Amino acid sequence: MKFEPKLSFDFLQVEVIDKGICGRCGGCVSFCTADRIGALEIGKDGFPGYSNKEACLECGLCYLICPQTINLNDDVKAKFQWNAPIGHVKDVFSLRATDKKIHEAATDGGVVTALLIDMLNRGLIDGAVVSKRTGLFNRESVVATTPQELLEAAGSFFAEAPHLEEVGSGYSSCVPLVKTIREYSKKRLSKLAVVGTPCQINAVRKMQVLNILPSDIIEFTVGLFCMQCFSMERLIDSHFMEAHNIDLKNVKKMNVKEDFYLHMDTGEVVHIPLEEVESIARPACLACLDFSNDFADISVGGLGSPEGYTTVLVRTITGKKRIADTMYSGAVEHLSGSNIQKLTSEKERILSLVGKFAEKKVRRGTANLEMLK
Ligand SMILES: Cc1cc2nc3c(=O)[nH]c(=O)nc-3n(C[C@H](O)[C@H](O)[C@H](O)COP(=O)(O)OP(=O)(O)OC[C@H]3O[C@@H](n4cnc5c(N)ncnc54)[C@H](O)[C@@H]3O)c2cc1C
Ligand code: SF4
Ligand code: SF4
Ligand code: SF4
Repeated sequence: MKFEPKLSFDFLQVEVIDKGICGRCGGCVSFCTADRIGALEIGKDGFPGYSNKEACLECGLCYLICPQTINLNDDVKAKFQWNAPIGHVKDVFSLRATDKKIHEAATDGGVVTALLIDMLNRGLIDGAVVSKRTGLFNRESVVATTPQELLEAAGSFFAEAPHLEEVGSGYSSCVPLVKTIREYSKKRLSKLAVVGTPCQINAVRKMQVLNILPSDIIEFTVGLFCMQCFSMERLIDSHFMEAHNIDLKNVKKMNVKEDFYLHMDTGEVVHIPLEEVESIARPACLACLDFSNDFADISVGGLGSPEGYTTVLVRTITGKKRIADTMYSGAVEHLSGSNIQKLTSEKERILSLVGKFAEKKVRRGTANLEMLK
């Protein structure tokens, strides 16, 4: 009889962590059924590891929900009618928030913040897991339960979030969102929206496929487009900013669209080609295959839209209803002057552009994964 080893964290260690493709999302630790008896913990370097190997039940859940493993990929793809290169798309829009306060605080059109506030006001959600800014390079994962808290969390964060007080000398993942969901579920809020990068939404969808609590409280997912995020260690050590003649102190805002954009205090906008940003990207990101957040209810990014607007890909029926409600309420508006004729060709143009970036990311990720074999 063939010996079938039981899945456990040991496999994650070998296949993901040792290979350098762990995104430090914390999903495995947070949802470890043995967590309560202490099998896993996040180490000082931000990577997961055993805290008590004896307590491990070899249930394999940590392995299955990891965004870097493939076992559940087909189930998730089937559930969301996935097709190449960017998954199932019901509709495409270029939108912006009509509230000026939101627009000013946001990265692109402020659609994410306007939509979440609208959903909160209608009682469709009790809160949203977002990433709150605590400085240009500091961000923490929080559950926002008021419009003001959502407004305070507007804008994007492209570097890993240094939570030194939590993880010693290391840095945690982009934002430890999965951990926040779990902690919040204890408070028994029943309906949450989640904003996340593709790896984060992927972990959530895998948990939902497996019906692991508390993924049942996630009512709505907003997926950010994502080519890569970078690590603070590399940003500082690699002299990346010096090479581009940029003083970090003078950076007011960052954005990623076709290129990496740095908005300086002086009003100047510095463009850096995305290929150059790869030198400071996290290794896990260079082995990642999802650009357009293929399994979210709606996916959003700046790519494809003019400055100040958000590109919105509607993927599910729930996504379609929520965007329609928010448009109807007047909280978001279309690109001015658009007509049906123009919109059709605009939609095709946006889809084709997002498709090109998605294919580029798959090529890069596949090549890097091949090298790790
Ligand atoms: C790491 C990262 C990489 C990205 N890469 C691209 C790209 O390559 N191309 C592209 O077109 N767009 C990219 N985006 C998306 C883009 O920056 C905007 O977030 C998106 O267009 C929505 O804009 P908005 O003005 O509608 O959102 P806003 O109204 O500003 O709301 C943004 C929401 O995202 C949350 N958030 C911010 N940072 C994070 C984070 N690190 N993790 C989880 N949630 C977060 C905020 O709390 C807020 O709720 C990226 C975003 C991130 C965070
Ligand atoms: S108990 Fe299950 S989830 Fe926890 S470490 Fe062991 S295999 Fe992973
Ligand atoms: S990517 Fe996330 S789930 Fe996978 S091993 Fe790393 S921390 Fe755990
Ligand atoms: S590229 Fe984006 S989605 Fe992929 S691992 Fe990095 S942060 Fe996550």
